[in-house]
Amino acid sequence: MKRNLLCMTAPVREDFDIPCHEIGPKSPHPAIALVGGLHGDEINGVFILSRLADFLTNVEAGVYKELRLNKRVLIIPAVNVLGVNLRTRTWPFDKSDINRMFPGSTIGETTQRIAYAVLEATRRAEYRIDIHTAGVDFEEVPQVRLYGPSESERETARLFALPAIMERSLSPVFTTTLMSSWKVWPGESFMLRVGQAGTVQLDHCQRVFRALVSFLGRCGVLEGVKLSVDDEEICCFDKASAHRIYAEKAGTFVSDRQVGRWVRAGQELGYIYDSFNGNVIEKVVSPVAGLLSGIRRHPLLFEGDLLLRVNKKK
Ligand SMILES: [Zn+2]
Repeated sequence: MKRNLLCMTAPVREDFDIPCHEIGPKSPHPAIALVGGLHGDEINGVFILSRLADFLTNVEAGVYKELRLNKRVLIIPAVNVLGVNLRTRTWPFDKSDINRMFPGSTIGETTQRIAYAVLEATRRAEYRIDIHTAGVDFEEVPQVRLYGPSESERETARLFALPAIMERSLSPVFTTTLMSSWKVWPGESFMLRVGQAGTVQLDHCQRVFRALVSFLGRCGVLEGVKLSVDDEEICCFDKASAHRIYAEKAGTFVSDRQVGRWVRAGQELGYIYDSFNGNVIEKVVSPVAGLLSGIRRHPLLFEGDLLLRVNKKK
């Protein structure tokens, strides 16, 4: 069922709404809440969640005879609805970042009211999932991000069966994020980071779609999911495991590597060309053996720009 999470009026345009899906048996609180598009240019998450809503709506309608939805699922595919329309990360009217507005308020600015409505709808869920991407210049491997996790969250994170789980401490500075606001409530909170902003990367989206369906199956929300036996290893990485490679020279950076591959120490991962003469001015090699978890996708470089990130196995 589609309903509006929040309806807002604007001075000289039509009213606008933030829609959400509520699917599965009625209950006072959803078992799982999924949020995407807090940043309007992060389209992978919006695409994944709209597809998931379509899939679960069909499950509920009995289209897949073997599947049954046992618990309530709340999906907000695009919190920053206007940003998605205008392809902007921030809220278009005042350029504010909705993910710096939590816990929000009922009487504040528009973005504070949006934050409040999102938190109200999601905070009592047993499992809460917020989907983001890296920026428009950088691509990240689909991963589960944990912030100051409990042992139980560490265990649950494996149910997504995504290859990388990245652990971070909860930032003492950015306390106004959705994640920080969720963490004070009972229940478990996860961020998924998927690819690059500004585009739909179908491979990543399909992979995360499957991860979410497996997750729903494993935590008992969706019955009848055929779970594949995982041959792929799930690796946990802390912040110290990340090795970053920066551009030593300006130029044009090109790499045909894919995120999510294991690389060797000294392996060539890309080249910096002189943007005018076209000759290779730097071979970019991995400093360590590990998982190639991020690659710069914008070719034009200044000295010091981040090129690659490789996470070393513990
Ligand atoms: Zn984001």
